[in-house]
Amino acid sequence: MDDDDDDDDLAELESLSEESVLEHVRSRFYADNIYTLVGSILVAVNPFKSLGIYDNPHKPRREAHVYRTAMECYDAMLETKRSQSVLISGESGAGKTETCKHILAYVARGDASVEDQIIKSNPVLEAYGNAKTLRNNNSSRFGKWMRLDFSGRGVLGGGSVTNYLLEKSRVVACASGERNYHALYQLVVGARKERAALGPLPATPESFGCLMSGRCVTVEGLDDARDWTEQRRALDVLGVSVPEQSDAIAVLAAILWLMNCEFYGDDEGGGRAANVATTLAIAGPLVGVEADRLETALTTRTEQMGKGSMVTLPLSPSQAAAARNALAKHLYARLFDWLVARINRSLDSKTAAARPSTTTTTTHIGILDIFGFEVFATNSFEQLCINYANEKLQLVFNNVVFAQEVQTYEAEGVPSTALRFDDNAACVALLDGKPVNAFSLLDDECAGGAAARDDKYRSKCVRAFQGKNAHFSSSTHLYGFTVGHFAGHVEYDARGFVEKNRDALSTTLSTLFAVHSTLSFAASLFDDGAPPSPGVGKKKAAPAKKTLSAAFRAQLSGLVKALEATDPHFIRCIKSNAAKRPGCFEDTLCLEQLRYSGLFEAIRIRRAGYATRMSHTLFARRYAIVVSTAALGDRRRKRDAKRACETILADPRVAVACKDRSYVGTTQVFLKDAAVRRSLDALREE
Ligand code: ATP
Ligand code: MG
Repeated sequence: MDDDDDDDDLAELESLSEESVLEHVRSRFYADNIYTLVGSILVAVNPFKSLGIYDNPHKPRREAHVYRTAMECYDAMLETKRSQSVLISGESGAGKTETCKHILAYVARGDASVEDQIIKSNPVLEAYGNAKTLRNNNSSRFGKWMRLDFSGRGVLGGGSVTNYLLEKSRVVACASGERNYHALYQLVVGARKERAALGPLPATPESFGCLMSGRCVTVEGLDDARDWTEQRRALDVLGVSVPEQSDAIAVLAAILWLMNCEFYGDDEGGGRAANVATTLAIAGPLVGVEADRLETALTTRTEQMGKGSMVTLPLSPSQAAAARNALAKHLYARLFDWLVARINRSLDSKTAAARPSTTTTTTHIGILDIFGFEVFATNSFEQLCINYANEKLQLVFNNVVFAQEVQTYEAEGVPSTALRFDDNAACVALLDGKPVNAFSLLDDECAGGAAARDDKYRSKCVRAFQGKNAHFSSSTHLYGFTVGHFAGHVEYDARGFVEKNRDALSTTLSTLFAVHSTLSFAASLFDDGAPPSPGVGKKKAAPAKKTLSAAFRAQLSGLVKALEATDPHFIRCIKSNAAKRPGCFEDTLCLEQLRYSGLFEAIRIRRAGYATRMSHTLFARRYAIVVSTAALGDRRRKRDAKRACETILADPRVAVACKDRSYVGTTQVFLKDAAVRRSLDALREE
């Protein structure tokens, strides 16, 4: 490697094969250099140990580092006056959230109180939106776009948070060895002062079924009681009032009791509840709903029989349990949405800008911390949504990397017509194209009322896409279909798609809360999806509630628009090993993630044009020896390095190797690939 070559920049490697990239990242990892640049993309490998490299964010640094990327982002904002974004991706446990905090630590410069509030939003979001999973003890179960607003002089004035797809199913059950959301455990073990207002609240997580479904209560490195106090203080800093906090806490406690309701009995006979009355007697008042009414809403359904007459039918125990689960999930997810909205009210740049110390906000930096590509043994609706999001972001990535290449070519005066790239637009079209796509077909199926079925949805897809979209294929399984994603093929199992996409709460339950709750906070968690003016007994169609995928797609298209209005910077987080062990680099696992990261796509884009570049000076110094000194004259001198390069490339022997495969740009020499460079090197050896 040459002296001018930057060892931490992979794009300068001669051969950018999968093996060489892996080898390079691995050897740096073992030397405790967890960061590597591939062109402008930062690769960060999670070391699972403290490296002491985050002490001083603002120290000038040349080497690849998350702070350097943050600096480039911040400086670019000041220089270009354009908004910037940092897209952080990677699988669970790869280090996205930690990276996000490092970026925040660098760029959050401004009014100390604004800075404090923005940083304090993290413990709150993590308490309510993170959980212990098998992959990560502090796994974010939602996607997050954090927007920081700056004045023209780079002073932080405010910000906002957007959340994506909170994993609701965790509220009612999780896999063995995993936990429910941190906040629920924190409440039980940490709430000392609040306990009195919550009726009975045993301080033992074992008392609550939904905290025990993974049979895991404590987590190494986590102190729930301390974290409870910390996030309550953070809420204080964020200006969330004590009564507001009490409202939220009451809903948390209600969820715990609600989930303790057990419905026994055989499904034919209509379930008589075992402990329903006692648990609802505690849960009801916490959300301002009479226990009896809540019990009726959970255990019966009302149907229209013929003209006008309504009958009330009992639900089976399993149906009642499903209604209970739907209610608990709804309460939790809406509580989370409320928290995010409440945080945003505090961070609102307009309020902040009104403070005397800041000037009007002009640009922003957005930080995206979002679930990476997922492939499991069984892939369901959630994976399709997540992988769709990744497909969309990959398209943004490809477009940016491609556009940057074209820009470099233009700046260097290199014709860019040779640059062709086959991106993932066809796969994106399968998922959100017109006139139909995999999600619109699901919405169609869901619109079919009681007749909607998962297998019918799958058949619709097969009819629409089989043989027509190269990224779709049916699999032999009755519910199976495969999507060819940019990161690999994924087989989905359509079972449960209809129900998950509907994401419905019974009208009886939503009406009960929206209309009859005596607590305005609890009622506000149901203010959409319920009939606008529900007359008792009157049949009134509820406004068509958006399906989950429709809501998610709308959110994502907003995100893509927001990204397109910025200059993006990319960070790819890599999980070094599955066991979360320090200092251990598993080749297969890492290579797989490098593939999912789209990094090789970036390399392919680069290869589509001229993959190898060298400054004029370096090129002239390196290859002058190939041509006669007479031919070169004194052009070898730095002053006329460009002419020297042209002379070298015009040499008959060199021309054989480089014909149509090299170009002398304004500041650099472009070579088609490493092979050209090798033949030049061979001439040099002669
Ligand atoms: P998820 O998708 O599950 O939310 P994530 O990508 O956000 O995962 P993090 O929570 O950021 O992952 O990181 C997981 C753990 O890895 C951290 O709790 C920390 O222990 C460790 N870790 C991450 N980044 C670093 C780092 N730069 N240095 C040391 N340890 C790290
Ligand atoms: Mg995370």
